[in-house]
Amino acid sequence: MSLLRLYADHNATTPLSAFVKKALTEGLDDVLLANASSVHAHGRHTRQIIEKVRKTIADILNTSSKNIVFTSGASEAASWILKGFSGPVCVANDAHDCLKNPRKDAHIISMDAHGLLDMHHLDKTLDNLDKPALVAVMAANNETGIIQTHLHSIVQRVHEKGGLVLCDAVQVFGKIPLPQALFSCDFIIGSGHKIAAPSGIGFAKIPSRVPLEKLIHGGGQERSFRGGSENILGIIGLGAALNTLSPFPNTSLETVRNYFEEKLQILAPDIKIIGQKHIRLPNTSCVVMPHVKGEIQVMHFDLNHISVSAGSACSSGKVSASPVLKAMNLSDMEASCAARFSFSQEWNSDHMDRLISVWQDLYVKKCNRAPPSSKSPYALTY
Ligand code: PLP
Repeated sequence: MSLLRLYADHNATTPLSAFVKKALTEGLDDVLLANASSVHAHGRHTRQIIEKVRKTIADILNTSSKNIVFTSGASEAASWILKGFSGPVCVANDAHDCLKNPRKDAHIISMDAHGLLDMHHLDKTLDNLDKPALVAVMAANNETGIIQTHLHSIVQRVHEKGGLVLCDAVQVFGKIPLPQALFSCDFIIGSGHKIAAPSGIGFAKIPSRVPLEKLIHGGGQERSFRGGSENILGIIGLGAALNTLSPFPNTSLETVRNYFEEKLQILAPDIKIIGQKHIRLPNTSCVVMPHVKGEIQVMHFDLNHISVSAGSACSSGKVSASPVLKAMNLSDMEASCAARFSFSQEWNSDHMDRLISVWQDLYVKKCNRAPPSSKSPYALTY
């Protein structure tokens, strides 16, 4: 009998939810779907669907529909905003590559050891620039789950200096109540495939007052910023996903995640759980298994029918230390030996016990530790 494969990589991508699948099937069967720019009834029907989803996003972000632009995902939105902005750019050192890579002239702002932006470095950098800057940060880190609790101060300081803030909010939708400070960010980017919608659809809040280069020249779609017929099925899926984001507070998920971490710490007191003492996404756990490379851990879990990531999924395949953990001043060893576990609501303590058992198996093998005595109240059953 084959073992059920467990998926602990929800920060990389999420499976489609049943509600999204149903909405997509209805979309496929909708004989009135057509080109939304057409003026006939088919076109008007399609336009209505698109504008309804745009309004859903606008309501969530506390802004007007006219500020929302659909994109193919967060990377596209980030590249567009950062490259389209004519002034200087500052990017947080823990940021996803989609924020760090578009501008080679970006000023990288350091993080502190807790994974938060170094506010002194931000101030100093902004003071040394001769023009107001666009500052790009993450609402929560995809690898560690650490929530950028300085967001309010960041927005305040950048605005005081006449600059703008771009917030990568990809990882917060559906995981925590949106932080109040997010609504004051000038640009916000999000992605469908992180919230149970299909891959290839995302969105950006683009305020009309900010001059920005066009992304795709074509028809007048998306305020003429992004010409080309809309990804209607993607938009339908995104709308369905946004309408069914999980209710808060997400305490049950946090409870099983904490159960996982507590058990690991009892088994192996020399491990490090990144950001454990800080405010984190309730579904994320980033664990350093000393001297065991992240990719070895990923392979071990894969052979044992569990999907996890080492560092961010976008860097999988690269055998380098995690830049996010390096940005937090962790040693090369620690930054190379972390695995990221990201769970969904479906995870329960039985799933966790299987994950812990597979983790322990590798730890005992690689770190030459004997398993704890079976008399221990925390002994695991295999
Ligand atoms: N930002 C964060 C925090 C992410 O986790 C990801 C995906 O890994 C992205 C941006 C890129 O999103 P997309 O796949 O929609 O381009």
